[in-house]
Amino acid sequence: MSTATTPCCIRTPRNRAPNSLSLVIPCYNEEDVLPELRRRLQELVAQYSFPVEVVLVDDGSKDKTWPLICQYSQEDTFIKAVRLARNFGHQTAITCGLDQTRGEVVVILDADLQDPPELIPEMINEWKDGYDVVYGQRRKRSGESAAKKFFAFAFYRIFEKIAGLQVPRDTGDFRLMDRRAVDALQSLRERHRFVRGMVSWIGYHQKAIQYDRPERFAGVTKYPFRKSLFLAIDAITSFTYAPLRLASYLGLATSFFAFMYIGVVIILKICGINFPGYTSIMASILLLGGLQLTVLGILGEYVGRIFEQGQQRPLYLVDQVQGEPLDSTSAERKQAQS
Ligand code: UDP
Ligand code: MG
Repeated sequence: MSTATTPCCIRTPRNRAPNSLSLVIPCYNEEDVLPELRRRLQELVAQYSFPVEVVLVDDGSKDKTWPLICQYSQEDTFIKAVRLARNFGHQTAITCGLDQTRGEVVVILDADLQDPPELIPEMINEWKDGYDVVYGQRRKRSGESAAKKFFAFAFYRIFEKIAGLQVPRDTGDFRLMDRRAVDALQSLRERHRFVRGMVSWIGYHQKAIQYDRPERFAGVTKYPFRKSLFLAIDAITSFTYAPLRLASYLGLATSFFAFMYIGVVIILKICGINFPGYTSIMASILLLGGLQLTVLGILGEYVGRIFEQGQQRPLYLVDQVQGEPLDSTSAERKQAQS
């Protein structure tokens, strides 16, 4: 079942197969899932007459991920292996992978097979129907802790409210994008990247397809709570300054209550009622101190990001690349013949 998010009248159906397809798969310590991933990818690639490339980005793994994907890229010409100089994080690994792609249509998916490659044909059908972005929306999420599900549930709702940008709920980065959407996304070179928010921001014609998200095929999650929290902070700070506005509101509210309190104390004093003050002074010092530090912390998050952006360092560094780039001329030739 699928839900359209853009009126069909302003979309132009393509009604043809894509000239070429690229897959971007970030891998971080994924040696346990790689053999099965490769098998499933081989099955997928065999279905298509147009050229397919799979860009496996090793995000500085410490296990056998890199030797394995190097071996795969030697044996299967459709596999391109890219190794980052260190662990730059999932969102940056995706960005690196997208920079490497040449296909007319690009799909991002996780290595752990929680984003089933078997859904790609359905996504391509929506692309043929004129959509530029087709994302997988999770109907059911197996194998995730209740805490993680609750965190995701709360995050999407809060984000939508304060950022004023609708990021489809219960989605990850599993999505198909047309070349023009990829180019638009890649033109946004901000350092702290929340890819699914950025894809929503670029607009164009987007559509969800629903699926039941299976459990990770093997291995353990590479997104512990700490990383998910950092991603949420990156998402909020890169899309809205609402937390800073909240700090101003808090300051105003506190000042208002302080004035009220002073008024009440003066009136009581005139009426001859005195409050011995030690406890209340301590309480207000602690409260105000805490408030000021929190506000300073929020400000610091933004200042730190401005500092990092100002440094203009590259988003990532590549250590090695192995495998042939997708040849778009031969891709077009093959398409013309078929
Ligand atoms: N990943 C990555 N770099 C990281 C962490 C994760 O490239 O620093 C990759 C990981 O190999 C996987 C994808 O990002 O392909 C999503 O990670 P995971 O499946 O562990 O996240 P979860 O599904 O548990 O949220
Ligand atoms: Mg996963």
